Amino acid sequence: MKLLQGKTALITGASRGIGRGIALKYAEQGANVAFTYLSSVEKGLELEKELEAYGIKAKGYRSDAGDFKAAEELVNAAITDFWNIDILVNNAGITRDNLLMRMTEQQWDEVMNANLKSVFNLTKAITKPMLKQRKGSIINISSVVGVKGNAGQSNYSASKAGIIGFTKSIALELGSRNIRSNAIAPGFIETEMTAALDQKTVEVWRDSIPLKRGGTTDDVANAVVFLGSDMSSYITGQVLSVCGGMLT
Ligand code: NAP
Repeated sequence: MKLLQGKTALITGASRGIGRGIALKYAEQGANVAFTYLSSVEKGLELEKELEAYGIKAKGYRSDAGDFKAAEELVNAAITDFWNIDILVNNAGITRDNLLMRMTEQQWDEVMNANLKSVFNLTKAITKPMLKQRKGSIINISSVVGVKGNAGQSNYSASKAGIIGFTKSIALELGSRNIRSNAIAPGFIETEMTAALDQKTVEVWRDSIPLKRGGTTDDVANAVVFLGSDMSSYITGQVLSVCGGMLT
């Protein structure tokens, strides 16, 4: 039996990296997948075809997760196309790293908008349909740096810490309606986002990890499958680190 058979998921930012890995794992586990992208249009169209090859229903939407109105429209369109959404994965995110001394207001605002406001936008839009269904699982992709901070990433760390507070608050607000809300805190996962880092930084990261390797997108996707599935039906308000022991 596939772990997500009969469920439908909406995943933001699935054209690349972790989001793409989650979409593929979800399809492999039998879920129908609605997903978004913003600039990577071709990659989005390719992913739609790859997902359909698993024999599930898949559809990509070009939608800016940081735009409140667009998030509402996206959820309405996905409900029209798929009838219901059982799982929301708030994965879309960006970095605009800089030391505070050099950080611009624009770098702060862009990160807060794409990483934190997006989670509010999508969660707010999905709440009504999930309340009607009396079930749902919301999974927010935070980061270990949202727990421990990171020099040069005060904007990113603040956005990821904000996600954790939001996740726990929503778990408290919606638990009585059988809607769960959990966060995942990935450590150093090797994707395009981390490929932008210099090699020396990457070596320092790897060496500081007890399991002595960077994580893969599958490492994160497996945890997202668990939190989306009924295997985790008594788990809400939690932050699950997928970091090779980095936070220990
Ligand atoms: P990535 O390779 O840069 O991919 C980011 C994805 O988010 C892309 O699909 C991008 O779509 C999408 N996106 C960005 N802004 C968006 C917006 N406003 N609306 C809709 N989609 C948007 O990043 P990643 O490494 O896979 O990271 C995915 C998530 O995991 C992020 O939230 C990140 O903060 C978190 N995370 C990553 C790591 C890591 O080590 N990689 C560690 C901890 C947490 P387009 O390409 O179409 O623009």
